[in-house]
Amino acid sequence: MVDPRDTRFETRAIHVGQAADEATGATIVPVYQTVTFTQDAVGEHRGFEYSRSGNPTRVALEQAIAAVEGGKHGFAYASGMAAVHGAMQLVSGGEHVVVADDLYGGSFRLFSSVLPRYGIEFTYVDATHPEEVEKAMQNNTRMVWIESPTNPMLRLVDVAACADIAQRHGARLVVDNTFATPYLQNPLDLGAHVVVHSTTKYIGGHSDTIGGAVVVNDDEDAKSLQFTRNATGGVPGPWDAWLTLRGLKTLSVRMREHESNARKVAEFCRERPEFSAIHYPGFSDHPGHDLAKRQMRGFGGIVTVELAGGEGAALEFCKSTRFFSLGESLGGVESLIGYPWSMSHGAFPPEEKRRKGITEGTVRLSVGIEHVDDLCADVAQALERAARVG
Ligand SMILES: *Cc1c(COP(=O)(O)O)cnc(C)c1O
Repeated sequence: MVDPRDTRFETRAIHVGQAADEATGATIVPVYQTVTFTQDAVGEHRGFEYSRSGNPTRVALEQAIAAVEGGKHGFAYASGMAAVHGAMQLVSGGEHVVVADDLYGGSFRLFSSVLPRYGIEFTYVDATHPEEVEKAMQNNTRMVWIESPTNPMLRLVDVAACADIAQRHGARLVVDNTFATPYLQNPLDLGAHVVVHSTTKYIGGHSDTIGGAVVVNDDEDAKSLQFTRNATGGVPGPWDAWLTLRGLKTLSVRMREHESNARKVAEFCRERPEFSAIHYPGFSDHPGHDLAKRQMRGFGGIVTVELAGGEGAALEFCKSTRFFSLGESLGGVESLIGYPWSMSHGAFPPEEKRRKGITEGTVRLSVGIEHVDDLCADVAQALERAARVG
């Protein structure tokens, strides 16, 4: 019989960790809504003791996520931030972390306001220039942390180059792969040591479950992650693990639609004079286009636009779309629209936002899998409404 691990992405997502239930033959992994597992005699159990330490529904999700990332060990967490925190527990007080400054706001909050209290030191660099990462490395640097493509400006960071720098300095490269998804990018194959996901976004894919994951190859790192997660307790419940696993099964088909819709929406927006810039790595004039072609298998489902009319036009546009729902988050089947200046990036000081390229006219579109003609028509009617008001 073929080991499902030796199959292609689409098959792994549906079959790894998901054999029929041994007890009942249930084809779909059941929701093991149980705290404890009855032991046959003291210390004699079937691999599970207590659901914080391990739960069969969660294990199925973890094996499937590890398989689609091409990694050996997967760990599910209660949220993306719990996963970020979980990965961070691979470093200790007195150690130093180099962080790409184009960073998810929640990660920045954890790194700037919580972890320094435990003696972990952070240096922020522009990782789109890997030489800046190199320059920031110290004797006590044990981790380099990047995202690619970045949020919301979709800048590309060279994963292999950063992995090489980390490796030479005895540090780990962590890649937050939430935006790219394992369907489009596998950082472990590019030399990264740790992959982090907010499964809340594309992997769950339906905007109905908060969750996170970490994937590693190294057995010692895996032991350490299992130990600290059990010690700190940030695990997802079985229902959330089950919903996330259900989402993962269709990640490939959803990503193909997100991809193709995002390209068409980006092309549509490029023809509209109301936008002064369109940030989309699939355009050949995007500064990260060649790197994206090298390290990704597609360009993702996010398009970031710049309203020529600035703040007024952007705010009107954000409240005038009908199918793009105004809200935090991204990566769901439904389209979402967000205003980074005061929403996802509201916590950054204005000069920091400008340095990242975010202005009062920047709007982020998470392009869903509705019919693309309806999405383009929605953008057009919102621009017209915004123009009438503005
Ligand atoms: C949303 C997000 C997170 C945090 O995930 P939660 O599930 O909201 O805790 C981390 N990194 C990136 C890139 C994200 O988009």
